[in-house]
Amino acid sequence: MNKGYNSCNLFVMKKYVLSLDQGTTSSRAILFDKIGNIISVSQREFTQIYPYPGWVEHNAEEIWSTQASVALEVICKANLEGDNIISIGITNQRETTVIWDKKTGIPIFNAIVWQDRRTTKFCDKIKKEGLTSMIRKKTGLIIDPYFSATKIKWILDNIPGARKKAYSGSLAFGTIDSWLIWNLTGKKIHVTDVTNASRTMLFNINTLDWDNELIKLFDIPTTMLPEVKSSSEIFGYTTGKILSNKIPISGIAGDQQAALFGQMCTKVGMVKNTYGTGCFMLMNVGDHPVSSRNNLITTVAWKIKDKIQYALEGSVFIAGAVIQWLRDGLEIIQSANAAETLANTVIDTEGLYIVPAFSGLGAPYWDQKARGIIVGITRGTTSSHFARAALESIAFQNMDVLKAMEADSGISIKELRVDGGATVNKLLMQFQSDILNVQVVKPKISELTAAGAAYLSGLAVNYWNSLEEIKNKWKLKKIVFTPKKIVNRKKMIKGWEKAIKITRYWSK
Ligand code: ADP
Repeated sequence: MNKGYNSCNLFVMKKYVLSLDQGTTSSRAILFDKIGNIISVSQREFTQIYPYPGWVEHNAEEIWSTQASVALEVICKANLEGDNIISIGITNQRETTVIWDKKTGIPIFNAIVWQDRRTTKFCDKIKKEGLTSMIRKKTGLIIDPYFSATKIKWILDNIPGARKKAYSGSLAFGTIDSWLIWNLTGKKIHVTDVTNASRTMLFNINTLDWDNELIKLFDIPTTMLPEVKSSSEIFGYTTGKILSNKIPISGIAGDQQAALFGQMCTKVGMVKNTYGTGCFMLMNVGDHPVSSRNNLITTVAWKIKDKIQYALEGSVFIAGAVIQWLRDGLEIIQSANAAETLANTVIDTEGLYIVPAFSGLGAPYWDQKARGIIVGITRGTTSSHFARAALESIAFQNMDVLKAMEADSGISIKELRVDGGATVNKLLMQFQSDILNVQVVKPKISELTAAGAAYLSGLAVNYWNSLEEIKNKWKLKKIVFTPKKIVNRKKMIKGWEKAIKITRYWSK
């Protein structure tokens, strides 16, 4: 049933690309066919471990077992076999840090998740020592507990005997992509790709190599580090009991970079924004890194063959989460979808602004101490105005990130490509387009992150012969929001800027 016959009636087996999307709360596996259609999806959630306030851990073995089981399940669900899988692509939660014993393959500690703040003090210390500029120049990153380096250091400092073992060459470090490949290849191959390496704070994005000065600074032996490869090449083959068919693993990218590729933002100046709990905006800036003067991160977008692409990245901490707050905190809506219906009952917010800085402000402010405010309440303010102001706050925050990107890159954009759960909200998408005065384009295919990893993988094994072939498919299906004139656009933006100022003033 899954096997086809060609016009000469010769037996041909249909082939698919398997994309493994290892996220922060769940492991997913998605099968793509040659036209880029989704054939089947499987998903399993795993445990979130919060040992202390601000600490977030995952059990790396559970990540592997959930990922392996959804990989098998998605193939069975589609009534296929391992032989039908031409290649595997991996996309993953970034920065999350695993250290395991090379001999036993057993992690020496839980994975420390990107959200974990336990290394804040150490980060503050090295900031005070004046290392910000050196680290930014080399890695494109700002000093923050997000990135892997201080998490590795924490494990080596705190697990008895770990540093000694590390220096004797018996421990391996990896981000989640490395950990999955290590297991998929029967505990043999220890690699990562440039996008994941660029989030460790140990990788020099100019030389594209691990950086000796940083390795020394964090006291991490080089023998722990994976070999860094491009994002689209054969890294190894599956082996062992799970997926024993020697399937090539041939695409890797961190989740946001995979989404940028899935959105086919392959030319300089193309931007994608993912609207989930928070927002992640990335702009392709071409084959040279652009250093930010506006608190954005410079990161590797991908490397295909010898061609490297860089991106500027900015994140908004609270986006879809402000809608969850309307539902669960204020209880003025029953479901996320109801936010749009309620907001649509008024034509504007009548000067009401919500700045949802619940856990500080992300790019371009990076103000950890900021806290949320609501301003402009009158006797006429209703829950409808609250819903509208909450949705507008998502768009305004993205406007701030985009402005910073345009200033850093010197490029003024015409189109924003969007994905993520909150993009179902038409009012939000239209307002985003209006306030930015750019076209907002939403592809009809949903799983763009997984698609990005599948494309990278399929390109390496010639399932797709060229980027052009993929781009042509991408063009076909999309929803476009064209900017409409808002009479008070300038005034509204001024109001937002004032609200941001008040938010930051309040926390001081
Ligand atoms: P994540 O990957 O971060 O979990 P998703 O892409 O699954 O996020 O999107 C979920 C987010 O989208 C939630 O924060 C939710 O509040 C928001 N969301 C879902 N539906 C809507 C909607 N109709 N309007 C606005 N926000 C929505």
